[in-house]
Amino acid sequence: MTPSTTRRRFIEITPFAGMALLAACSPKTEPTPPAPPAAPPAPADVAPPPPAAAPAAEPAPASAPTTSTTPAVAPMVGEKDAQAIALGYVEDASRVDKAKFKNYIAASTCSSCALYQGKAGEASGACPIFAGKQVVAKGWCSSWVKKA
Ligand code: SF4
Repeated sequence: MTPSTTRRRFIEITPFAGMALLAACSPKTEPTPPAPPAAPPAPADVAPPPPAAAPAAEPAPASAPTTSTTPAVAPMVGEKDAQAIALGYVEDASRVDKAKFKNYIAASTCSSCALYQGKAGEASGACPIFAGKQVVAKGWCSSWVKKA
């Protein structure tokens, strides 16, 4: 190889070498992959499993003295409660505003309603319409549904 050939060869390969160098050093234009899902917590961060359920408490013996003979009952729905007013609830179905509640059926009461959860003969019982409260068995509201 003569010096002239070497110089020519250098000039020929310099652009390609430069492009290769730029390509190697330039930042990638490919989109970055999404972040991997959060790793599960380290074992040290995991709460220990709850202890095995304790055995159910023994029921009180039948002869145990009781402090009260009145069972805890839910409070009664008041006719002045906002929801009661909205649904036209009355504690005595004979006082239903029949002009306002056209769906009232004569003699229908809470105790004949499919939603009533009180037992037959009881004066009051739970109703899911008024969660956490009791309605009067002889009451009524516009959500009344005939018991099947
Ligand atoms: S939904 Fe039925 S049981 Fe409940 S308040 Fe109305 S009529 Fe009574």
